[in-house]
Amino acid sequence: MKPKVAFYWCASCGGCEEAVVDLDEDILKVVAAVDIVFWPVALDFKEKDVGAMPQGGIDICFINGAVRTTEQQRMALLLRAKAKVVVAFGACAQLGGIPALANLTTAAEILQEVNHTEQAEGLPRLFDSVFPLDRIIPVEYYIPGCPPTPRIILAAIEALLAGQAPSLSDHALCDECPRKDTRPPDLLLPQLHRIPHYALDPETCILAQGVPCLGPATRAGCEARCIGGNMPCTGCFGPTSRVRDFGAKALSALASVVAATEEKEIDTVFENLPDPAGTFYRYSLPVGRGLPPAAARRGRPTTTGEPYGNHT
Ligand code: SF4
Ligand code: SF4
Repeated sequence: MKPKVAFYWCASCGGCEEAVVDLDEDILKVVAAVDIVFWPVALDFKEKDVGAMPQGGIDICFINGAVRTTEQQRMALLLRAKAKVVVAFGACAQLGGIPALANLTTAAEILQEVNHTEQAEGLPRLFDSVFPLDRIIPVEYYIPGCPPTPRIILAAIEALLAGQAPSLSDHALCDECPRKDTRPPDLLLPQLHRIPHYALDPETCILAQGVPCLGPATRAGCEARCIGGNMPCTGCFGPTSRVRDFGAKALSALASVVAATEEKEIDTVFENLPDPAGTFYRYSLPVGRGLPPAAARRGRPTTTGEPYGNHT
């Protein structure tokens, strides 16, 4: 009997599903090793098929995306009831991800701004907040990334099939960055630059060039993909296990290399950082502790499926 595996997506862009397909020929190894029993994006299984499974009928369930709607909550609860192991797959499931930046406002405000309407009867309802998966159901393992890399996905699947926990690096990205030796130990920046206004040298540490790079605060393991593309790290692998608030850690890491000490000078330097919430909490707003409650709207773990907050 092959292990039974399910994939599901909640509030996400589809990139995590893409990343599984991007395993290329390695996906054949996965398909040969498991029996895929539910994968709505690729195979014609229905919710009722999951409903008909016995408890524990799914060995491993990978859920990507945050939880934004009553339908996603219902599916997460159903899959939890059927799965022996649930994996929060990717940054949105792990930390809330980019969809959770919506927690800076409310569902009602979003519907008014985008559609000039209110929640419609008969459709899944939007919660007022976006939740990481473990605020809705218990989760055994987390695979970080926006999206996770093929190497990390394959290693995680192989470990899980062998009955082991996926192994993650617990160092900062700078430790595995090919440019780390070009970052001066006593780095002090007179000013910050926004990427569109500055041609980056492809060999030198991006932070040392004055462009905010969140590598010092971010968990390693992605093989420094963005740095390889000459783009700064935006923190999609989230924090290491020693960090409680990724945004606060990233802000602190950046502030520590800014040379300005007077308030006016500091304001001038940070003028080139026009979106602090989107920069430091791009992937982790619901789990951040550094923002006012009204902005962060963190919610709390629950197995009852009744997330914290105003559902209307
Ligand atoms: S700050 Fe960015 S570019 Fe510099 S060493 Fe760290 S990850 Fe690499
Ligand atoms: S460099 Fe940073 S943002 Fe890019 S994939 Fe790696 S962890 Fe994610």
